[in-house]
Amino acid sequence: MLSGRSLPFLPYSRYLRDRFGGPVRKLCVDAGFTCPNLDGNKGTGGCAFCNNAAFSAGSRGNRRDLATQVEAGRRYLARRYGESRYILYFQAFSNTYAPLPELDYLYRLFQGEEDVVGIAVGTRPDCIDHGVVELLDGLAAETHVTLELGIQTIHDASLRRVRRGHTWTESRAALELAAGRRFDLCLHAILGLPGEGREEIRETAEALARFPYHSLKLHNLHIVHGTDLAEPYRAGRIHLPDRPTYISWVADFLERTPPTVALQRLVGDAPPNLLLSEGWCHDKPGLYRDLLAEFDHRGSRQGIYAAAPLRLAAGA
Ligand code: SF4
Repeated sequence: MLSGRSLPFLPYSRYLRDRFGGPVRKLCVDAGFTCPNLDGNKGTGGCAFCNNAAFSAGSRGNRRDLATQVEAGRRYLARRYGESRYILYFQAFSNTYAPLPELDYLYRLFQGEEDVVGIAVGTRPDCIDHGVVELLDGLAAETHVTLELGIQTIHDASLRRVRRGHTWTESRAALELAAGRRFDLCLHAILGLPGEGREEIRETAEALARFPYHSLKLHNLHIVHGTDLAEPYRAGRIHLPDRPTYISWVADFLERTPPTVALQRLVGDAPPNLLLSEGWCHDKPGLYRDLLAEFDHRGSRQGIYAAAPLRLAAGA
């Protein structure tokens, strides 16, 4: 396990341990949400990198079986990592995309259980409004809450290219709404989107650093069967970074990220049977070692080029 004390970046495991005084893990649940980029509100095809096959009836979770999912998650995590407490992670699709009373009901379902210390809610920036932020802020007075926003990039041309269905202006509005609240904020970025290289990635890191946030998930763009990127990738029209390039981009990003922001994810996950691009993303321990070696080689660490965050009032 990464200890964090002498590391050139702050691992999320360390952040959680400091906060909760013991091991805490995220337990994923699929509460049967959908997404405006799939249900016709913004689009029906989804993001070009999203595997919509996972959206088909029968393969999704439903709200009735949440207790089963939580129980199975507990057993799996205990077997794999030993005893722990849990943050329930509403992960699949857009987990703020439902009426507020429904959200309130779902988010509270397992609070009060001895081993549940809070929730994490993953969503798109355009699925955040004042009501959602107020709801999460109220909940955060009672339990730990993390809002996870899929920003992906600040570049509108890239967002359009992958048919993301929202703009950087919408992301910025969500970041301003979420600033200064009682919940944690986690931001997601994808490194290696078509048309992007080191410069665009640095610009995204620099722009995000201007907002107060607590943790970061970085994701390499990988190509998965059944997505709209599969065909152009096979035809050689999409070029992905190799492993050393990706690691150097991650180091670039972290150098521009405040040292208080914990790294939740270094690389994306895809089931090997669905992955079309190279499989190095599965070697997480090796990639962490590569990142340490990269920082060592540079003689640098997280935050050395990070700008100070803007001063934003709560709900600005
Ligand atoms: S926002 Fe998420 S769930 Fe919706 S299409 Fe994009 S990747 Fe898929």
